[in-house]
Amino acid sequence: MSGNYKVELTIVENGLDFIKRSLIELEKDDDMYFKYAILHLSAGLELILKARLQKEHWSLVFEDINKANLETFNKGEFKSVAFENLISRLEGICDIEMGFKTKKKIQNLKKYRNRIEHFDLSVNKKALEAITFKVLSVLIPFIYKEELIKRDHDTLKFINEKLTTMDDYITQRYKEISPIIKELPSEVRLLECPNCLQNRTLRLDEKYCYFCETTFKNLSVEFISRFLNFDEHFNISYGKFKFLDLCPCCEKRSLLVADDECLCITCCKILRPKEYVKCIDCGISHLFGKEEGEFINEEYVCYDCIFKDEI
Ligand SMILES: [Zn+2]
Ligand SMILES: [Zn+2]
Ligand SMILES: [Zn+2]
Repeated sequence: MSGNYKVELTIVENGLDFIKRSLIELEKDDDMYFKYAILHLSAGLELILKARLQKEHWSLVFEDINKANLETFNKGEFKSVAFENLISRLEGICDIEMGFKTKKKIQNLKKYRNRIEHFDLSVNKKALEAITFKVLSVLIPFIYKEELIKRDHDTLKFINEKLTTMDDYITQRYKEISPIIKELPSEVRLLECPNCLQNRTLRLDEKYCYFCETTFKNLSVEFISRFLNFDEHFNISYGKFKFLDLCPCCEKRSLLVADDECLCITCCKILRPKEYVKCIDCGISHLFGKEEGEFINEEYVCYDCIFKDEI
């Protein structure tokens, strides 16, 4: 249907336009522009993903497909599909294999965008460039592969050129920080940075990211808003870490737990999983050897819980 094609083209062009704007905003050295750069990048991404749904069928961009109506569609007067549903429809209906990494990059941007909109975070240029590069390096090939617009489109060319310079920038940045990271003592733990999303650039003991040069005042808050679901499991895998536990040392719920080690992002303690135990009754974590409770029928109960009825 030729009419349909025209609408699709408009969405893709709009999406690319938002992305172009975001790249221009990124070049201005100003926090206010940085904020818009993320908002525009996110808007552009969403439009392009929606364009792919629309290419399948226009009704798929309605949040409630039962309410899909060509007249309201043409007027643009409808509630369009929410982000999470957008992704699941692309996978389930359009049979697009997003791949774990791609999905993660897209969801990361969305989370970042929400944080900026709601918490008025200051944005760091190095972090922003890294995130933009990550998202565009999956979005542009997606546009080509799904044939959403002709390859020699001017805006697409503009974006591609910028992408090349960003690639250089990221490689350059890694060249600068790699020697420093390599020299770090083996007990230093490196994590993915919740700000620039680069892997193994955040030094836990100093709460400092070498890539984006951010020192985190409250790393656990940044971390939780970025990586966790409300049930405190990682909704997007965070390396080897599976869930967050109460730290037996600082008592904050900020102990990242993996099979071989646990790291606290508040007090920076590194423990092995066998070094602490949880009270079966109150769930509070205790270090072994601190004699804060005892095993009853192989289950650990802390003294507070054992004696609570006797007070
Ligand atoms: Zn960083
Ligand atoms: Zn702790
Ligand atoms: Zn207890």
